[in-house]
Amino acid sequence: MKNIMYHSTRDNNKKLTASQAVLQGLAEDGGLFVPEELPKLDVSIADLIKMDYKGIAYEVMKLFLTDYTEEELKYCIEHAYDNKFDTEEIAPLVFADGAYYLELFHGSTIAFKDMALSILPYLMTTAAKKNDLREEIVILTATSGDTGKAALAGFADVPGTRIVVFYPKNGVSPVQEKQMVTQRGSNVRVIGITGNFDDAQTGVKMMFNDASLKAELKDKGFVFSSANSINIGRLVPQVVYYVYAYVTLLKNGRIAEGDKINVTVPTGNFGNILAAYFAKHLGIPIDRLICASNSNKVLFDFFTTSRYDKLKEFNETDGSFDKDRKFTLTGSPSMDILISSNLERLIYLAADGSDVKDRELMSALNEKGAYTITDDMKAKLSDFESGYADEAKTEEFIKKLYDKTGYVIDTHTAVAGAVYADYKEKTGDDTVTVIASTASPYKFARTVMTAIDPANKDKNDFELIDLLNQISNVAIPQAIEDIRTAPVLHDIVCDKEDMPEEVKKFLS
Ligand SMILES: *Cc1c(COP(=O)(O)O)cnc(C)c1O
Repeated sequence: MKNIMYHSTRDNNKKLTASQAVLQGLAEDGGLFVPEELPKLDVSIADLIKMDYKGIAYEVMKLFLTDYTEEELKYCIEHAYDNKFDTEEIAPLVFADGAYYLELFHGSTIAFKDMALSILPYLMTTAAKKNDLREEIVILTATSGDTGKAALAGFADVPGTRIVVFYPKNGVSPVQEKQMVTQRGSNVRVIGITGNFDDAQTGVKMMFNDASLKAELKDKGFVFSSANSINIGRLVPQVVYYVYAYVTLLKNGRIAEGDKINVTVPTGNFGNILAAYFAKHLGIPIDRLICASNSNKVLFDFFTTSRYDKLKEFNETDGSFDKDRKFTLTGSPSMDILISSNLERLIYLAADGSDVKDRELMSALNEKGAYTITDDMKAKLSDFESGYADEAKTEEFIKKLYDKTGYVIDTHTAVAGAVYADYKEKTGDDTVTVIASTASPYKFARTVMTAIDPANKDKNDFELIDLLNQISNVAIPQAIEDIRTAPVLHDIVCDKEDMPEEVKKFLS
């Protein structure tokens, strides 16, 4: 099998093995690690059909993580996709009203982040052994709500690691916050910041690039790594479920071999949809990749105009960019993001792997708040469609789907559902479509239940959870039961400037 090395999107020369890239998380120059080339499947679809989720996971991950031995990878996979998931299928496909919902929320924290974060700790500790790492690994994490809990659950009490999670104090759902601040473990710390997700993510990236902070901590025996989707160890496990979805559709006779499918992904940091793009490169016949945004529609604006602008918003009526872009808190908080990190990887690929072009565009984004890609680059992105759904549209979709089918979906998934419905109406494209269902509706019970019946707004969160249980006939997940009575163990809130201080305090 071909050995695949990794390098930064901003420097093609300095090469790392996969395990080194997993350990490091983010490149020192601020870029993201990308594989030298995108691999192709070396088994046939006919072989994949005979495999379960873990078998497919091995066939996909071995192509990207080539310096892990077969034994190491299989060990990681076995321990990740076990009974932490509440179904042996790991990622069930549910058909409702003309689309297939790929339920990615059956892991222990009931959001799709578990798909990768249940394996990342194994990939990372294996990488530490392989590379004779002496220091303790400190996972710095910025979260818009779901990564935080999934990373905490994955890394709690894992020897040789510590984890610090920063979340926007007023920017996550009550269930998301309760899940995080009740986290147990001797190596964990959860900190709210007075700012939004972008502030948290920028603060974390600044610590990664702060040479003196890193040197100071290295003296004390610590190195940083990342559990965000900037880590290649997050992205690779996410490729698996798109392959699994295709194989499942085929196995169930919903498509014939070679048939194309579309995928619709509710998008924030662009990790999940980028994984679908990698799956397409592996050889899975995916036609359209539909990128769905909420009111923070910076990605829709980008795909529509070729201009990525975090400060100004595209006006569809007159084609101008003269209105200030506002960061909006929505009912789909895990997509409330204006600086979409993983897009840099796509930009790099669209620039034919030019680190020079990548650096030019990323410094324009830093310095001027915007960049525009060339027509050649735009042409390379022709696989992508995009759309957005505001709050009203999202809630309307939840209600409509429930009224019609009895199936209840979460707010993020509903953004994707609404965008897909628009796409289908506009284009008449009736290709079989998989919608990434990224969270359990229980995690966003308030918005979901008031969308279904506005009279529910006066009930408390746990009343809404019990009501959701009655109307959906879906058992209340353990993750929800766990927080009903759990004590709050973390109550630190800090300004974004003080994030490094808080990390130092935790490590001293
Ligand atoms: C993280 C998250 C998203 C966005 O995924 P990205 O990979 O950041 O694009 C969507 N929905 C939910 C529920 C999430 O937790």
